[in-house]
Amino acid sequence: MAWKTLDEMDLAGKVVLVRVDINVPVENGVVTDATRIEKIVPTLRDIIAKGGKPVLLAHFGRPKGKVVPEMSLKPLVPVLAEKLGLPVKFAEDCVGGPAKAAVAALGTGEVLLLENTRFHAGEEKNDAELSAGMAALGEVYVNDAFSAAHRAHSSTEGVAHILPAAAGRLMAAELKALEAALGNPVRPVTAVVGGAKVSTKLDLLGNLVSKVDNLVIGGGMANTFLVAQGISVGKSLAEHDMAETAREILKKAEAAGCTIVLPTDVVVAREFKAGAESEVVAADACPEDAMILDAGPAAVSRISEFFENSKTLIWNGPLGAFEIAPFDTATNAAAQKAAALTRAGALTSVAGGGDTVAALNKAGVAADFSYISTAGGAFLEWMEGKELPGVAALMS
Ligand code: ADP
Ligand code: MG
Repeated sequence: MAWKTLDEMDLAGKVVLVRVDINVPVENGVVTDATRIEKIVPTLRDIIAKGGKPVLLAHFGRPKGKVVPEMSLKPLVPVLAEKLGLPVKFAEDCVGGPAKAAVAALGTGEVLLLENTRFHAGEEKNDAELSAGMAALGEVYVNDAFSAAHRAHSSTEGVAHILPAAAGRLMAAELKALEAALGNPVRPVTAVVGGAKVSTKLDLLGNLVSKVDNLVIGGGMANTFLVAQGISVGKSLAEHDMAETAREILKKAEAAGCTIVLPTDVVVAREFKAGAESEVVAADACPEDAMILDAGPAAVSRISEFFENSKTLIWNGPLGAFEIAPFDTATNAAAQKAAALTRAGALTSVAGGGDTVAALNKAGVAADFSYISTAGGAFLEWMEGKELPGVAALMS
């Protein structure tokens, strides 16, 4: 894969349009988590260090093509200025007169934030006129919003085809980590896929069995695979109508030489609540009135062995109902094993997915993984092997 980075771009004296993800949580006008803003700071500092003038394109919320004052980006200006330590100006629109005037007035060492791109209906339609209007404001385009790269919108894809385009620091780091995990990984590669349902992760499972050496299946979706093998799972969450699909995935894995790792023992309970009485049983011995809520200790040992014998790990989906103790035990133990191997330099570990990030944070190991993607949908589509239009546009 070849994409340009800031290092290959001449930015001196140029207006640089930068697509960023600053869709931060805001409560009563106050930013409650500025992580996304902090993450774009290196890119903006580097652009300024190279003599460029950063002009930020971003969306906020879902205004659906209309001006919704509550979804203005303007309240983010002071937070941006504080995190950057630089003056941040604001333009009331992302194209047209107000934007042009603000760009013309922008001084060296200043940053300009343009109003919510999704105030224009053309943004999500990748409208050519809107893309051209954005492109007319600058001379170079930089995309630092991997999390929006699975959408072909004017600000994520359209502009990239008009101006010389490059990946920002955050985008480049994400692409490098993902490439190391699945694009061109050091083998053996083990993937962990857990979570609630097979039906939401079919494309992902289908892609992974053809790319990884071992696929650990956990969480509720493992129950569906047990059902597919004729095993009764009692009252467990399972998609009985997906049994045939699960069998097809098992066949595809076998043909591709991918080892499927299903739990050998499981934790069952009669109630789905914190501290519910639970017991460990063999995976084929779930009582009829019980539910499987976690993988058992023997399963965790086996998973740990696969981690030890791997060089690369890619993980999406918890191994159990991790929100409720003690059903977070297997997820925590496997996460700690992966973290220890990563710290020791024996494993490259990449994880992503909304609940997965929450589970790894809860296990206290997020900082030890090689890379944790907070990109959500874009991460999943990438794991499914789909081409992300925002990334593809940087390759040309
Ligand atoms: P992600 O957001 O990381 O992609 P998912 O949304 O697919 O992950 O899955 C997370 C959900 O799966 C959690 O809410 C968790 O409680 C649920 N889950 C995992 N294992 C089980 C299980 N055995 N029974 C019921 N729910 C489960
Ligand atoms: Mg989820």
